[in-house]
Amino acid sequence: MYICIEGIDGAGKSTQCKLLKTWLDKNGYKTNLISEPTNSPIGKLIRRILSEPTPLNDDQQKILGLLFAADRLLLRDKIQKAEDEGTIIISDRCFYSSLAYQEPEDWIREINKFAKKPEILILLDIKPSKAKERFKGLEKFEKESFLRRVRRKYLKLAEKEDFFIVDANRGINIIQLDIRRIIAPSLGICQGNIP
Ligand code: ADP
Repeated sequence: MYICIEGIDGAGKSTQCKLLKTWLDKNGYKTNLISEPTNSPIGKLIRRILSEPTPLNDDQQKILGLLFAADRLLLRDKIQKAEDEGTIIISDRCFYSSLAYQEPEDWIREINKFAKKPEILILLDIKPSKAKERFKGLEKFEKESFLRRVRRKYLKLAEKEDFFIVDANRGINIIQLDIRRIIAPSLGICQGNIP
């Protein structure tokens, strides 16, 4: 099974992915945590580009989109292999991040058409102002206006596609509980084993 947690930076994706892994491991499942961009040479190049202080022009944005799609393609076999072995893949971001952050949508869909789609897709929805608070003290954080736009795009995508939306403005444990409740039925875990 391939599970993905999406949302803007500061939504709590990596925190929740790790907690989910611990809980599933405790319940006897084999799990594998992944995140995008990956640690492949392409993923490293993406991180380097994202850390540049100067804004990217249109062509550079397109190159970034292509790099994300290539990095994702490198993941496809790994996800398939894990699924074949019965391992649960928990992914911090996936193809939907490209749709939320980059444009145009048709083109992003086209270059990502070989990416694997998660069976369970969770959007951690958070107010950008709240997400920003969580990064207090850190210099680099995207502008709030940009994050508001990305959040709107995520919510629009969630209307069209099969997303579960979780209110991520709350405490870590209550969010995790919601995530477990979403996943439990697909794994046949009974309600009593959720907390
Ligand atoms: P993301 O992966 O979405 O960028 P993180 O999981 O890295 O978010 O969380 C960003 C920061 O916010 C971390 O310092 C983390 O400990 C903190 N954090 C995560 N979830 C919550 C929450 N629900 N309430 C308060 N702080 C949180």
